[in-house]
Amino acid sequence: MRTVVGIYSPINVADWLVPGRSLFLAMQIAGIACFVYIVSKRMVPLLRAQADPRFDRPLRRLGRVLKFWLGQWKHPRYRFAGTLHIFIFAGFLLLAARAFTVLIVGVSPNFVMPGLSGRFGPIYERLTDYAATVVFLCMVVAVVRRLVFKPARYAVPPKFGKAHTADAIFLLGLIALLMVADSLFSASRFAGLAQQAQSAESPAFLSLPWMLEIAIASTSRATLWGLNVGAYLVHAIAFYFLLCYRPFGIQFHVETSLFSIYFSKLDKGTVKPVRWDVPDEHLDQVKSFGVKTFGDFTWKHILDFYSCADCGRCAENCPSNAVGRPLAPRFLTIKARDYVFQHYPVFGKSNSSKPLIGNIYSEDEIWSCTTCGACEEECPLLVEYIDKIVDLRRGMIDDGNVPQSLQKPLKALESRGNPYGKMEKKRGDWTKSPELQQTGPVKVLDGKNGADTLYFVDSITSYDDRMQAIARATARILTGLGKNFGILGAAEKDSGHEVRRFGEEMLFQGLREHNTEAIKESGVRRIVTSDPHAYNALKHDYRDAPPVEHISQVLASEARAGNLRFNSVDNWLEIKDRVYTYHDPCYLGRHNEVYDDPRDVLDSIPGLKRVEMQRSRDRSFCCGGGGLMLFYEPQEEQRMGVVRVRMAAEAGANVIVTACPFCMVNIEDAIKVAGMEGKMSVIDLTELVDQHMVRTVTHEKEEKLEATTDGG
Ligand code: SF4
Ligand code: SF4
Repeated sequence: MRTVVGIYSPINVADWLVPGRSLFLAMQIAGIACFVYIVSKRMVPLLRAQADPRFDRPLRRLGRVLKFWLGQWKHPRYRFAGTLHIFIFAGFLLLAARAFTVLIVGVSPNFVMPGLSGRFGPIYERLTDYAATVVFLCMVVAVVRRLVFKPARYAVPPKFGKAHTADAIFLLGLIALLMVADSLFSASRFAGLAQQAQSAESPAFLSLPWMLEIAIASTSRATLWGLNVGAYLVHAIAFYFLLCYRPFGIQFHVETSLFSIYFSKLDKGTVKPVRWDVPDEHLDQVKSFGVKTFGDFTWKHILDFYSCADCGRCAENCPSNAVGRPLAPRFLTIKARDYVFQHYPVFGKSNSSKPLIGNIYSEDEIWSCTTCGACEEECPLLVEYIDKIVDLRRGMIDDGNVPQSLQKPLKALESRGNPYGKMEKKRGDWTKSPELQQTGPVKVLDGKNGADTLYFVDSITSYDDRMQAIARATARILTGLGKNFGILGAAEKDSGHEVRRFGEEMLFQGLREHNTEAIKESGVRRIVTSDPHAYNALKHDYRDAPPVEHISQVLASEARAGNLRFNSVDNWLEIKDRVYTYHDPCYLGRHNEVYDDPRDVLDSIPGLKRVEMQRSRDRSFCCGGGGLMLFYEPQEEQRMGVVRVRMAAEAGANVIVTACPFCMVNIEDAIKVAGMEGKMSVIDLTELVDQHMVRTVTHEKEEKLEATTDGG
């Protein structure tokens, strides 16, 4: 950096009590020592936390750093704030070498950052003149936004604590001051050199240093000298103050976000085990399950608390927060961060044995989550919530703290393998319907009958009268497509998906063990299910299950292969004018990224009119059904399903298509609650396909096919 060097190096302060070099050196050593000390204290809770093996797949992790940290991938989801952040982030990256250079020339006037001594030096300096200008302007805009426009997502409702506006404004102001000091340092140097006719160069045209240089160009040499030294001092003080202040608040994410993104969860749809360092077979030796006190969190969870930028995106997208439940994910993090700062102080002893539930979190807050994943999907820093919530639930369950309304279904799951307490032998009763006899009976894979494919039905679709229609439609479709399939019948138990996310790990493991055995005995090579919760469990929670597909994936690939064709809706006078919209179930969409298949199936039905809701695909709004929510009534101002039905109406739809029995229950109910019967209806994708598909394989043909296969 050629132009940084000159007669105006602040090291030339000679008439102070302490020589400039010694003063600046001492200041910098003190600043760095202070920062190292604070960060080492912030590391204490991480070092004492539970294990979390996040050191695998380094290349994939690096890729995520490039995408989500360097590439700021998620920021543009909020166009204005995201763009602002990208400018600030890029500005900071560019300015890093310049900031260090400015600090170092205070003690070593001829210092030039490696790589910047050649032709690239002046280019870099011009570029960073603009970077400082852009960051300064972004700070001004951010302050105006905070003070004048006050985006709702930054607000802190009294139930969650105090507003953080003052802290945010202070930090924004400090960064703006840093940019002004940096620019003034550069401007005064250029102006001084110009006065002595030592250089005809000036800062980048129209940049902040350029404007400042014009403003001070005609002042005396002594004033320029004072401005130069003053700017240096302000820059150095602001720099080190910011560095040491950041670990006390939201700005700590500047240091930690790279690590929290590197160590972020790679496998969507999964839930962490009870203890990473204890295999499931040895869980009986674990004295305490889940998170009860702060020390029960894993180090990654604590790193998340440090890394949250308090942007409020998670809470704004959280359906529980939207309907007035006592949960907003942002505050799970903020409250934990306040707790860690208070109980692991920078000065003094740490003390963290208080139970979290009742002190910083309420029971209802933790039970209110549907595990929909909207918060995690939205977070630009990949902060995780579901694992923490499940761990907190595990802790409550371990203490016998189960909500009243959930005690009965859990008991029934334990004794009968379904939450309704119905007889095991009735699990396959839906197959006795006459409409199935036309297309062909459904085989029960009981040892005498074998099949290539298992249709895993799960509890709600097996026992709920309305949902049985989904089972029958699925069976008719599979038969129509000529699939050799069967069900487990009485041998099937609940997949345990909700049980696990509710925190009842041992019950889940019992259900998993039973089903895994039954699936193995059936000899099937693949599994199909019409329930995204079962799909997610079989895919991510079960270890030895054959490959599993959701029925929408089967339908899409059959449609693409030309094996699934549809009659035009124009042939159905009564549905010709219907406008359909697809509601993404959380466990099919966000957790497993199946967004296109169901839409492709709908779009291959000739004449079907489909519109998108504003909140769709990875921003879909949960219907309220996940995590045993069918049996739990949290305090809320309105139902999630009602909000969703209104979103469909706003999009101009009068039929909601979904691909999940839980969504069906909630949306059907919500239509009644919202008084929209007759104006809005809901249908499962399988039911719609069953109505419109052209059947090429008849029951008789299938029987012949089987006879041929059996005969060898
Ligand atoms: S998973 Fe869904 S309900 Fe739970 S905190 Fe996140 S957004 Fe809210
Ligand atoms: S968790 Fe993520 S989305 Fe939520 S406030 Fe923090 S940074 Fe923003």
